[in-house]
Amino acid sequence: MRTSVKRPGRVAVIGVGILGTAVGWNLSRQGAEVVFVDAGRPGEGVTNWSFSWVNASNKTVRRSYFDLNVAGMAAHRALAEDIGPDAWWYPSGHLRWAGDPAAQTKLLETAELLAGWDYGVKVCTGAEARRRLEPAVTIPDEVPVVVYPDEAWVHGRRLVGRLVGQAVAAGAEHRFDTAVRDIRTGADGGVRTVALSDGSSLDVDIVVNAAGPSASHVAGLVARHLPMRREPGIVARIGCARVPVHRAMHAPRIEIRPDGDGSVVLHSREVDALIDTGEDPAELARLLHDMARQVVPELANSRITQARVANRPIPADGFPSVGAVPSVPGYYEAVSHSGITLGPIIGRLLAAEILTGKRDAMLTDFRPERFHP
Ligand SMILES: Cc1cc2nc3c(=O)[nH]c(=O)nc-3n(C[C@H](O)[C@H](O)[C@H](O)COP(=O)(O)OP(=O)(O)OC[C@H]3O[C@@H](n4cnc5c(N)ncnc54)[C@H](O)[C@@H]3O)c2cc1C
Repeated sequence: MRTSVKRPGRVAVIGVGILGTAVGWNLSRQGAEVVFVDAGRPGEGVTNWSFSWVNASNKTVRRSYFDLNVAGMAAHRALAEDIGPDAWWYPSGHLRWAGDPAAQTKLLETAELLAGWDYGVKVCTGAEARRRLEPAVTIPDEVPVVVYPDEAWVHGRRLVGRLVGQAVAAGAEHRFDTAVRDIRTGADGGVRTVALSDGSSLDVDIVVNAAGPSASHVAGLVARHLPMRREPGIVARIGCARVPVHRAMHAPRIEIRPDGDGSVVLHSREVDALIDTGEDPAELARLLHDMARQVVPELANSRITQARVANRPIPADGFPSVGAVPSVPGYYEAVSHSGITLGPIIGRLLAAEILTGKRDAMLTDFRPERFHP
């Protein structure tokens, strides 16, 4: 039986990070009328301040969440085939090793669980990983290194630019550097008008709330309660003459990945934990840089070029909020942590829901209705 696709009317996508972009791109290529609205520039929100690791190995907390992330990895591969991989898609795998015996045992247990779930995983020694994969990285000879060959990293801002460009070429409109300050509803409670901070307004039939860390505020504009956690993280970009690492990796205290020509990205949960102590972000970036130099001595002559603290867009229970909110006709949410991994799959599933009204079973555990006022 074929699912009927109807034109949904005019859709305002609020927030042009990876999630809003993926929804709008999928809608617009299926003939829907899309307006992208962003308070800033496309892809310059959290999407540009992410470690950007495409994975499901860190998502074993719930099987349905793991499965959604596996589908996210597959959707990235399909997207790279569809639009071409240039300058945004880096399917170079992932390395992870731990510093102390307890953490090593836990890492190997997770690897075993993942292998049982048919996830691509291999284990080698530090010496082998250095010889075959990362000669510039100081991994001790005998530590177990878990290799996830199917994982990747993504240049989020460039992916957003590519998809928005294609959607605009297909007829999508955009309003950038102007925030949504109000969403007006009609007598039936359905969305009607989006008011922008530049004084203009848009008549719409549907809004997609993809406002990342500001999604709770945008939900409030339709009197919807979307509780979110506060969980800030800091990312630093390091400029170097030669990028000494070939893939994203988790060393014991620091995460490191390439970021294209002449640049490396650094992140550490240990440093994130210091953000709320009031420490100067420039000092936190120096800490990241010091940690990275211990693992990759070749970074000794590199310099910090940019650093930013960003809030993760995490609904209160830690899981995505994706789909229609039946109490507000025409209002949909696309709000999630791990949005780099999940962007292409959430974009595809939510666009299909908007176009056909059909809810995909993969989103059952992540429906917005689970949050009540
Ligand atoms: C330190 C850190 C590390 C991370 N590491 C990973 C990782 O390794 N892998 C992974 O998959 N995920 C990771 N994430 C999460 C991932 O980056 C996010 O889930 C994803 O980027 C969210 O994308 P988004 O489109 O929802 O948000 P954003 O990219 O923030 O986009 C939201 C947009 O909404 C706009 N906006 C906000 N309010 C309004 C308004 N009122 N009107 C108009 N526009 C508005 C903003 O300007 C912004 O451009 C990480 C996040 C952090 C902070």
